[in-house]
Amino acid sequence: MASSVYDVLVIGSGASGLSLALRLADQARIAVISKTALTECNTLYAQGGISAVLDAKDSIESHIQDTLAAGAGLCDSEIVRLVVSQGKECIDWLLERGVPFTETASENGGSHLHLTREGGHTHRRVVHAADATGRAVETSLEQHARAHPSIEIFEHHNAIDLITAQKLGLREQRVLGAYILDVQAQQVKTFRARYVVLASGGASKVYLYTSNPDIATGDGIAMAWRAGARIANMEFIQFHPTCLYHPHARSFLISEAVRGEGGRLLLPDGSSFMQRFDSRGELAPRDIVARAIDHEMKRLGADCVYLDISHKPAEFIKSHFPTIYARCLEFNIDITRQPIPVVPAAHYTCGGILTDRDARTDIPGLYAIGEVACTGLHGANRMASNSLLECLVFAKQAAEDILQGLQSRPAPPELPEWDESQVIDSDEEVVVSHNWDEIRRFMWDYVGIVRTDKRLQRALRRVALLQQEIADYYGHFRVTSDLLELRNLAIVAELIIRSALLRKESRGLHFTLDYPVPDDSQPPHNTVLSPR
Ligand SMILES: Cc1cc2nc3c(=O)[nH]c(=O)nc-3n(C[C@H](O)[C@H](O)[C@H](O)COP(=O)(O)OP(=O)(O)OC[C@H]3O[C@@H](n4cnc5c(N)ncnc54)[C@H](O)[C@@H]3O)c2cc1C
Repeated sequence: MASSVYDVLVIGSGASGLSLALRLADQARIAVISKTALTECNTLYAQGGISAVLDAKDSIESHIQDTLAAGAGLCDSEIVRLVVSQGKECIDWLLERGVPFTETASENGGSHLHLTREGGHTHRRVVHAADATGRAVETSLEQHARAHPSIEIFEHHNAIDLITAQKLGLREQRVLGAYILDVQAQQVKTFRARYVVLASGGASKVYLYTSNPDIATGDGIAMAWRAGARIANMEFIQFHPTCLYHPHARSFLISEAVRGEGGRLLLPDGSSFMQRFDSRGELAPRDIVARAIDHEMKRLGADCVYLDISHKPAEFIKSHFPTIYARCLEFNIDITRQPIPVVPAAHYTCGGILTDRDARTDIPGLYAIGEVACTGLHGANRMASNSLLECLVFAKQAAEDILQGLQSRPAPPELPEWDESQVIDSDEEVVVSHNWDEIRRFMWDYVGIVRTDKRLQRALRRVALLQQEIADYYGHFRVTSDLLELRNLAIVAELIIRSALLRKESRGLHFTLDYPVPDDSQPPHNTVLSPR
């Protein structure tokens, strides 16, 4: 079967992938690959908004300073400037594509974009569409992408591995395409492309509790690693303190606003505990609250703690938190009368594939944009609402760079087909589901919010054993989405553990009891892992 040839193969259809495809499509032939339905991605679930300097009282310098402060000494200041200074352009680009951002009345009788303020920002600078910004962005971009004649969309296609010249034994260094599993047809296809862009999102599914949807299994990071690209800062995983804890509630965040409006965190016996950890109590920063909850859960062996807002009038609760009220009620939790069971949850992957200011990776022709990349913007901690901005800015940077080189870039040669002659259908799917559970559980227990070298070493031994088992399974059985994701999760787990072991200090989102403070005896450094 002849393989398809594209100018650009975009793996991922969130904010980063779709905005890149749209920026390229008038001048290039694009394939957009999505693991499940086109809009099922982290972008769809983003609530708060997108940061951009739009208010006359605000300034680029102030946004830069806030981002640098959040990043705890590890942001790349040139990248921060590059991103922050393009906020307005990116919001305008989205407005041109019809994203219905929330507006408010201006003094002159007109209207302007409403700006909210979030943790870490010293000004109001978060553009939003009510409390469902991601949905508004994703569905607007989807409409444009589906309508564009140069964009071919492949839903339910799961990228397995990148094809590089080096892997084929050719002398040049370059990406040539990818093997992709058509999940519904159960067939592996070969895609050839002049350029490949990984826009495949983060890796928070490697933890037992996460705010992310199922697609967030770090596939792009694992694929780039296997292809020979460097990966950076994987120890910096952001945990959100309060995710609903219920066996059937997958990934539902209980907004920080509940604590902002007086919600109290309680232990299973009903006693409060936050004051013991921070004088700001429930209003301490996210990472402190998450650490306190984790500490108490581990100390007591408790499955969860509770967030109680029921002392407020029922009408106040229903009008301020209609979505949370309705969602909890689906699980028979009436938050006007009962506390909400909550756990911290993995929320955002700050590290990823190391990229430059044009989103280029170590492999010529391979770009990485969005949560899959480590650009230098977030450093050791991401500031709220900077991540969607990062997606949009690096999609633009990558598009400009690709368009400059496109005309002179030769088409890739014919590529070998995927070889299934040595494998059979699995008769032991239980191994895959068991290993999925095991990775996510030991990552939560040993590589979570509070780490020690002993716990990390324990996790490293487990992941090595699992990787042997997975490799054996992969070598004998036909690939399935679950198996592919498991193989990627195991690599991501290893990268997080190894990065955490290398950082002999606590900084930003990485906290270890063995080195509980930042090491100021040397300049702050990134953790860069190289596959070679
Ligand atoms: C609940 C929640 C709330 C958030 N709120 C905010 C907020 O208010 N502001 C903010 O800035 N950020 C927020 N974030 C973070 C932000 O949403 C993400 O960082 C951002 O959307 C990532 O976009 P992306 O394009 O990089 O990846 P995603 O939107 O996650 O898209 C990834 C895409 O890659 C595809 N994919 C993955 N692997 C493969 C594979 N192997 N083969 C084929 N396709 C693949 C997926 O199918 C998907 O289409 C939030 C995140 C969550 C989970």
